[in-house]
Amino acid sequence: MLDKIDLLVLDVDGVLTDGRIVYDSRGGETKSFHVTDGQGIKYWLRMGHEAAILSGRASAVNRRRAREIGVRALYEDAKDKLPVFLKILKRFRRTPDRVCYVGDDFIDMPVMAQVGFAVAVPDAAEEVRRVAHYVTKRPGGGGAVREVIELILKYQGRWPEVLERYVRQMPADLPAARRPRKETP
Ligand SMILES: [Mg+2]
Repeated sequence: MLDKIDLLVLDVDGVLTDGRIVYDSRGGETKSFHVTDGQGIKYWLRMGHEAAILSGRASAVNRRRAREIGVRALYEDAKDKLPVFLKILKRFRRTPDRVCYVGDDFIDMPVMAQVGFAVAVPDAAEEVRRVAHYVTKRPGGGGAVREVIELILKYQGRWPEVLERYVRQMPADLPAARRPRKETP
């Protein structure tokens, strides 16, 4: 199942963030994203895979974050996610079995029921966790997306490729005990 996954579709609030939205007095809003999730998405894209963001709400912060992590496919203001998800499939010419979707609320369930690998964050509603194939250990906005990316890329045997660029810059005589393991768990 995981070997075919090459399109990652992510909810924003509660998945890429902890779900909090802070309103400021000038009409703007603040959310916090996790740096390891953003970096994970960059690794994912570097492996030649694709990623899209699918949010029920529209926010300038989403657009800024998407730009920063290199995700060009940003879909916002989706009152129902399934029709938008179908557009994403078309755009990337994918079938649902090649998609991993990460969500946390009821709005995500119709898409989660379609995809090859449906993931929920641990504090997602019970019904959402139930439709998921996998529930992350890390929370939304706290590395959940990174965890999913590592899981899939390790399963696909691509993780050493992610590390390669950094391992190359380490001293050649560094003891094996301090190097990344050859086999990934
Ligand atoms: Mg959400």
